[in-house]
Amino acid sequence: MTKMFSRILIANRGEIACRVIRTAQRMGIGTVAVYSDADAQSLHVAMADEAVNIGPAPVTDSYLRADRIIEAALATGAEAIHPGYGFLSENPGFVDAVVKAGLVFIGPSADSIRAMGLKDAAKRLMEKAGVPVVPGYHGEAQELVVLASKAREIGYPVLIKARAGGGGKGMRKVDSPDDFAETLGSARREAKSAFGDDRVLVEKYVAKPRHIEVQVFGDNHGNAVHLYERDCSLQRRHQKVIEEAPAPGITEEMRAAMTSAAVKAALAIKYSGAGTIEFIVDATEGLKPDRFWFMEMNTRLQVEHPVTEMITGLDLVEWQLRVAVGEKLPLTQKQILLNGHAVEARLYAEDPARSFLPAIGTLHHLAFPANITNGDIRIETGVRAGDTISPFYDPMIAKLVIHAPDRASALASMENALVQTEIAGTKTNLAFLAALIRHEAFSSGDVDTGLIDRDLASLVTPAIVPAGAKELAIIVESRLLEYPASDDPWAALRGYSHHGSQNYPVMLFEEEKPVRYGVCVLDDGRYGISSGAGTFEVRIRREAGGWHITGKGINLRAKTAAIPNGIAVLSRGTASSFAIADPFLLAEATGNAGDRLSAPMPGLVKSVRVSAGDAVKKGQILLVLEAMKMEHTITAPHDGKIAEIVLEGSQVKEKSSLARFETGD
Ligand code: ADP
Repeated sequence: MTKMFSRILIANRGEIACRVIRTAQRMGIGTVAVYSDADAQSLHVAMADEAVNIGPAPVTDSYLRADRIIEAALATGAEAIHPGYGFLSENPGFVDAVVKAGLVFIGPSADSIRAMGLKDAAKRLMEKAGVPVVPGYHGEAQELVVLASKAREIGYPVLIKARAGGGGKGMRKVDSPDDFAETLGSARREAKSAFGDDRVLVEKYVAKPRHIEVQVFGDNHGNAVHLYERDCSLQRRHQKVIEEAPAPGITEEMRAAMTSAAVKAALAIKYSGAGTIEFIVDATEGLKPDRFWFMEMNTRLQVEHPVTEMITGLDLVEWQLRVAVGEKLPLTQKQILLNGHAVEARLYAEDPARSFLPAIGTLHHLAFPANITNGDIRIETGVRAGDTISPFYDPMIAKLVIHAPDRASALASMENALVQTEIAGTKTNLAFLAALIRHEAFSSGDVDTGLIDRDLASLVTPAIVPAGAKELAIIVESRLLEYPASDDPWAALRGYSHHGSQNYPVMLFEEEKPVRYGVCVLDDGRYGISSGAGTFEVRIRREAGGWHITGKGINLRAKTAAIPNGIAVLSRGTASSFAIADPFLLAEATGNAGDRLSAPMPGLVKSVRVSAGDAVKKGQILLVLEAMKMEHTITAPHDGKIAEIVLEGSQVKEKSSLARFETGD
């Protein structure tokens, strides 16, 4: 029996750091966290036995600083480093440095990572190993003329991919030869900034593609097994949104073909540890064993690994640790059984209504359901109420994972879990996720990677403010309600007898204007809200977990949470914020912004396409802003003449001016 580590360092942050720490703690292994200045108060730091600051907030100064991370491991007596996903997890240079320092890297060898690290080389290798590969050009030549002619040979539409790619970055679909050059430029720019490598490959764009991947595991004794497949076809801009296992509609024949190709791929590179073989499937005629192709291998634990854990009942982090100390795989292929159905939804701080722009802010209120009626729920998160989603890292809030006996009940439970999740303080994709779960094609199992884009308009609905939310906010703000521990519903309410019919003033900030209301107690539980439009009567009753407000056209069960300068009303997955007007806000909102375009978020001005004095048309690209590791194109909101424009390369704050139009006189 090999000896388990007594202490490991986790070279990551957020939910994955917390996830790894949990298993280590269960196994009696000591944990060391690393953190940037921005993360000093974060959950992973609080959970670990020890934590080491590795530098300022930007990832290049902290979570990507291999030297500081290794130094922290040596200083704290950690014997091994778990990289999580992202950051240094697939960086062979880091693995070499870890090994050179006399530490164990909890993951595959640097050679395996190198073999699979570049999409083009990996594809050549897989072709040799007899694994089916998407038709395309994976060669060394990078000249525009060569790539364009290869694209023509392959046949449009084609997909340009950064060979160093990941997370959908540097990847662009091209529909016609006319767009090839422009799109190539944009893919290259994104690849350069994300990976420091702007080389690309070009491949056939598969029609009605489904993304099905196979979880594999290898050890240092020549064994490799698979842990079934995951379907990750629900994607937006090539990023996974909802994942599930098993893949809907998969047949035993298809599964056998895919899993054996995956194990073959793992064996071809003597793979050790957790890995994922991603396949693209042409689903135009259902799932056919001759219509799936290798896309790439991820040589690390995936974000969506919990769905595999749920259907197999295994702990993949525990397997990683066992393999890393030199143990054999804990189970043989025959012993790994598939049970039920699991689904995962990625909850992000982002604004679906504004093209999913990452949102930042403090999570003033955050609550997840603790259990579901049919099956199990697991929340993977790295934040708590009061924590902040900063602009420096991925804006993920949590992963909701459900396991149930079958797909239909897993989806029903997921919908329930989503509408019971309460978040105030930042915009989220909660309503979007719930709409996706309810989506007819998705729930019937008819999925493909284009589903979200095709139906975006119906999936992204404007945030609705439920009837009664505003009235509840006004009454809460009037302080005529209290929050006692008592179970007596009426004890919760300050009575008529104490206050008579006195009017309590409340001022809300509505459509940038302050609006005055008066609230009075009519009798126990009945309130009058007066405004310019007269007096409106509502009834409020305290209920387990919140309030029940009724009145003409109102029947709402909701909770409220305090947010800075206001109140949030949370009900069935919606969060409606009401700003309480105060003199300071008032001055800011009425200040004349002029005809200018301001930065929607902090970021770097990557490229500027127009100059002062230029006449521009509505929709024309003015500049490209890089923020949260993504490119955002800023376009002209109307025709006009540019008076001023920001400098290329400048770093801008949220709301700072990017461009100003000449005002017509
Ligand atoms: P990354 O490493 O950046 O995540 P992948 O190669 O894994 O990139 O591809 C990500 C997603 O892009 C896939 O899940 C699939 O939806 C889509 N995709 C990739 N290759 C193709 C292709 N040839 N045709 C159509 N869609 C593709």
